[in-house]
Amino acid sequence: MKRFQEGLDNKVPMLVDTTLRDGEQTAGVVFSNREKLRIAKMLDNLGVHQIEAGIPVMGGDEKEVIKEIVSYKLQASIMAWNRANIEDIKHSLDCNVDAVAISISTSDIHIAHKLRTSREWVLKNMVKAVEFASKHNLYISVNAEDASRSDLDFLVEFAKQAQAAGANRLRFCDTIGVLEPFKTYEVISSLIDKTGMDIEMHTHNDFGMATANALAGLKAGASFIGVTVNGLGERAGNAALEEVAMALKHLFGVNLGVNTRDFRNLCEYVARASGRQLYPSKPIVGTNTFAHESGIHADGVLKHPATYEVYSPEEVGLERQIVIGKHSGSSAIKMKFVEYGIDLSDEEAADLLSAVRSVTVDMKRTLFDKELMYIYEDYLYEKKLVPSLDKSE
Ligand code: MN
Repeated sequence: MKRFQEGLDNKVPMLVDTTLRDGEQTAGVVFSNREKLRIAKMLDNLGVHQIEAGIPVMGGDEKEVIKEIVSYKLQASIMAWNRANIEDIKHSLDCNVDAVAISISTSDIHIAHKLRTSREWVLKNMVKAVEFASKHNLYISVNAEDASRSDLDFLVEFAKQAQAAGANRLRFCDTIGVLEPFKTYEVISSLIDKTGMDIEMHTHNDFGMATANALAGLKAGASFIGVTVNGLGERAGNAALEEVAMALKHLFGVNLGVNTRDFRNLCEYVARASGRQLYPSKPIVGTNTFAHESGIHADGVLKHPATYEVYSPEEVGLERQIVIGKHSGSSAIKMKFVEYGIDLSDEEAADLLSAVRSVTVDMKRTLFDKELMYIYEDYLYEKKLVPSLDKSE
């Protein structure tokens, strides 16, 4: 937990990864213990500050693997998730975690229809649980579930009582993903103004704004961002670790010291373990993010990568690809043939380009290198530059 402690001391924004908790709560996703251990190690090597490792009260494998993760003595802090009751927290204590998340709903709709109780009951139980955890020297995040639909005055009262009972931060949960960046900025600014408490953003992607909302919260003064690898998580998922870290670095100028070169590798591993494929246009780690087909883009990138790339592919563990397809231009075609030791003249490149266009339109996709070579061989034959197509292979 050294990295976490240093982060607290230096007051830097911190990443709280919940792939192993919220990520595994995705309908249909289960990790084996071996996968969980590997993911925890990979997250730690990457440089996240806190790992929410699971829910000890579930017992069995879930509890065992949390103990094992703790035994690795990672640089990251290891947090366990709890409902606001002492029984849950006792299970967390068994696991020797250094931090606990204590969760309870704060919105009237949850209090009335899920908990079927009152705001007073919520406050009383939260305070009891926090006081108990505080006596055991745990770092405490109090999670306001459905915070984004909660009455702000009540949330302020909730935060103040949590703080008085010994809580270290408030997790602001946009449980059903209804925030937008402008409202996020307003609410978080006001909450910090009224309580002075450390805030963690926990955002969901139901409207495709999880990353944007997390960053808006940070801009308003929140100091922790809850993330998951690939944005895994309930329903549409959470803010994605790779998106938040790279956006912070390149759009906000905040470098968290994360080993970004490991992103593709980590994301691929979690994609496999979760059975959720990485789609090609996935921001940051999708295979398409550094693939250029259009003639103008490919020509620009070949002359100077910064014309169409914000950062280099190596920075996230990817490679640049020039794809030959309907929108390719002659400089990309020439470059592709140079890879095969063939120097095309301008005229040849132009002729091949029109052949490539008609074939890709027929096929409705880009071409494999081998197909490109067939087109080239046909071209040579038609031009009577070779006697036959039977070039032995
Ligand atoms: Mn969640």
